[in-house]
Amino acid sequence: MTDAATTRTNLLGLTPAELEAFVVGLGEKPYRARQLLVWMYKRWVGDFEAMTDLGKGLRAKLAEVAEVRPPEIVSEHASGDGTRKWLLRAGRSDGREQAIEAVFIPEVGRGTLCISSQVGCALDCAFCSTGAQGFNRNLETAEIVGQVWLANQRLGSGPGGERAVTNVVLMGMGEPLANYKNVVPALQLLLDDRAFDLSRRRVTLSTSGLVPQIYRLAEDTNVALAVSLHAPNDALRNELVPINRRHPIAELLASCWHYLEAQNGRSVTFEYVMLDGVNDRPEHARELAGLLAGRDAKVNLIPFNPFPGNRFRRSAPAAIEAFRDYLNSRGVTATVRRTRGDDIDAACGQLAGRVHDRTIVRLGQKRFGVEVEA
Ligand code: SAH
Ligand code: SF4
Repeated sequence: MTDAATTRTNLLGLTPAELEAFVVGLGEKPYRARQLLVWMYKRWVGDFEAMTDLGKGLRAKLAEVAEVRPPEIVSEHASGDGTRKWLLRAGRSDGREQAIEAVFIPEVGRGTLCISSQVGCALDCAFCSTGAQGFNRNLETAEIVGQVWLANQRLGSGPGGERAVTNVVLMGMGEPLANYKNVVPALQLLLDDRAFDLSRRRVTLSTSGLVPQIYRLAEDTNVALAVSLHAPNDALRNELVPINRRHPIAELLASCWHYLEAQNGRSVTFEYVMLDGVNDRPEHARELAGLLAGRDAKVNLIPFNPFPGNRFRRSAPAAIEAFRDYLNSRGVTATVRRTRGDDIDAACGQLAGRVHDRTIVRLGQKRFGVEVEA
């Protein structure tokens, strides 16, 4: 990062209203902001010189005080199945390079980008590679939406001019609701028709269950909600998802049903990582069905993706299918997530980036007196 880069305003972090205020602050007419938005979000152009309808004077002024700066690419990997993963620079900390990851998953008729919200994660879930790395810092709004901007720019438009990224999931590194103040403006930019213009059903926030923030989110936005449940009772969930000791299952589910009601949402998706012999038995399926039957809930079973140094094993395919079939037989819609990009370590829970842990003691190791930043 150069000195100039740190003093210029990164326009990627600004909402359309903030961008307009910025442009007016430069002594320009408000419609200039609308022109800028078209360049930035309809054409994925970030170089002011290329924005030909802005006028020479304004282009020069912008180049001095502003920039459109997505995260810098450290490396790019392409999987045999079309999945792409970017390792992106997230600054330095104590002299060490920090990096996050974003993953693009192409499917017929849609392209899903999985983005990160923090450099690492403090919540320390037992089966998660990001958690094992520890926590360094929150990403800025510009860094969060910058991942989507960069992917659209890198991947280019389809033959009919359609955008590469049609869906965004906050399922990369980090706990999005622990970075509430930067994540909510990012969600607003993703939905805003003057910016990324994604429909609310195509933006999904996944959380391990920060209950107070789920209630706040119901007031502030209306994206789709996914919740990492992973266990059907508190004893087991306390072990797998340590934040459960602060916000147990009953409270978590109450916040989910509130979210649906407040948002007029269709359903909450519950993610459930399939760990051999740990949470994948018939009695777990029965208990889970007991929690969710009759509710607007879907279950997404995620075959565990192993990473070095972890003690868990992936459930056998037959166990996963039996689990799914049982839930479906109880009227709880359950699907199995297809593993994509595992040859480049881009599958769920395999995103490690490069994190230099700056927390003193992590949550799973008893940091419950400390509030997660909201
Ligand atoms: N922090 C948020 C979002 C990031 S994790 C959350 O926990 O929901 C995205 C999803 O990947 C979560 O459901 C998470 O539990 C799951 N996951 C983490 N590690 C995994 C692994 N090793 N294999 C499969 N899924 C994993
Ligand atoms: Fe953090 Fe989510 Fe990983 Fe848990 S599963 S450690 S909340 S990123």
